[in-house]
Amino acid sequence: MSYLRKIEYEIVLKESFCIFRNCPKCGRKTHYINTKKFRINANGNKLDIWLIYQCLECKHTLNLTVYERRKATSIPKEEYHCFLDNDEQLAEMYGKNMQLFRANKADIDFDRLHYDLVKLHETMESSGLGEQMVITVMNPHRLKIHLEKQIAMVLGLSRNQVKSLLQKEEIEIKMELPQSVSFSISPCLFPMDT
Ligand SMILES: [Zn+2]
Repeated sequence: MSYLRKIEYEIVLKESFCIFRNCPKCGRKTHYINTKKFRINANGNKLDIWLIYQCLECKHTLNLTVYERRKATSIPKEEYHCFLDNDEQLAEMYGKNMQLFRANKADIDFDRLHYDLVKLHETMESSGLGEQMVITVMNPHRLKIHLEKQIAMVLGLSRNQVKSLLQKEEIEIKMELPQSVSFSISPCLFPMDT
């Protein structure tokens, strides 16, 4: 009896995105990091809420708009309290939300990403097609990580080794999307966990 073994991984961001932009105080491009603090401004019954980033070198701040002129009643109470408390988890969540950076025209520095590869699950199915193995890497934040690098991380190989396995068709790309990549490999390249 032969098997199809499927393993799914996810690329998990360890830290908030870092912004690379011109700092007016430093007079050049610097890195801005998440202070994990919010700023709230109330104007009548409208609220503005920002997530505060700051220049790593001079602490000049940059406010990223989370809500703009939003009716106070339209913001969930629980979330509003988290803004008031500078809830770290919520600040991290916004700091990893690419949409927020796009909307604020803040350039993310993709060379300074800190991420981990986490194994989600593994399944085995019987198959009539001989031993097969398919690995999927989920990339929910659509981080720009080269396909070969993603495969290399999973297999613990170098990018050059992956390149040569791709050429020899011992690794075959099944699907390549910004949010996930699937490839099949010969099962002998990936021994069972003990
Ligand atoms: Zn600065």
